[in-house]
Amino acid sequence: MKIGFIGLGIMGSRMAANLHARGHDLVVFNRSPQKAEPLVAAGAVAVNNPAAVAAQADVLITMLAHPEAVREAATGEQGFLAKGSAGTTWIDCSTVHPSFSREMAAAAQAQQVQFLDAPVAGSKPQAAAAELMFFVGGEAADIDRYRPLLEAMGRKVTHIGPVGQGSAMKLVVNHLLGTSMLAFAESLALGTGLGLSQNALLEALVGSPVAPPYLAAKRQKLATGDYAPEFPLEWLHKDLQLVARAAYEVGVAMPTSAVTKEIYGLAARQGLKRQDFSAIYRLFLERSLERPSGT
Ligand code: NAP
Repeated sequence: MKIGFIGLGIMGSRMAANLHARGHDLVVFNRSPQKAEPLVAAGAVAVNNPAAVAAQADVLITMLAHPEAVREAATGEQGFLAKGSAGTTWIDCSTVHPSFSREMAAAAQAQQVQFLDAPVAGSKPQAAAAELMFFVGGEAADIDRYRPLLEAMGRKVTHIGPVGQGSAMKLVVNHLLGTSMLAFAESLALGTGLGLSQNALLEALVGSPVAPPYLAAKRQKLATGDYAPEFPLEWLHKDLQLVARAAYEVGVAMPTSAVTKEIYGLAARQGLKRQDFSAIYRLFLERSLERPSGT
């Protein structure tokens, strides 16, 4: 089985490397071609556009930034959903909204291509260690067929429901991720403002029942101020935008998420787009440092 992999960013490059390391034949495409070089050096084949991936692959995996990039790769001028792709299966691991997954499933079906939405929980370290968790939407039989492939990149594959439900679960998770990170950053700002040391705060909070477990992996970034991206802030902002859209589509009100989204938007405008999303703390830190003494 030849695997086509489209999107070799922080996550996709590592997921593709794990497939290659486990003996799968790979044909790859990335908009910025230099990101394919390490895989090509290891024996993968790189091609110039998504349609050329489909021409060689039995299964297509996409791991792209946002719905617009996925749409372009699938249905654009050189998209992979073209004549000749019939009989293949497309697994979209990108974080997108559920109605978009359903739209892509319909576009795939029109070309006799099977579709699964399979977004992931876990970040750069989990992608590197093949320890991702997949939330999969689609037919049970298709999921069982491709479970071994997903297990080559992750430690847990959960069938959530029909097409779109994998994406639904992912948005629920990232709403919590974004709001909890912001609340934590605000708590640190309060604590330092009240004269507590950052170290004392991290020591008391990280690992305590009130802090989400993922914060243990962010502690070093918060302590050192080195926000090299594992999950770029711009994509968390994008995910909260997708949460707002999905919530609107089903008539659910998300007031906390809406405010959180705009605060990440502000951070993005202030130059933090390509830093890790935990850099949201910098918004508060820099303000508190500027506070005039005696107030
Ligand atoms: P990334 O490093 O920024 O990679 C994004 C990928 O999308 C790259 O291949 C990039 O190509 C491509 N891309 C972006 N805009 C494009 C466009 N307009 N047209 C074509 N290709 C485009 O991001 P990532 O962290 O790997 O994230 C990829 C997906 O995984 C996103 O949906 C993200 O929300 C999701 N995700 C990320 C994490 C995480 O912790 N990082 C965890 C779970 C899910 P270039 O290389 O040319 O820019």
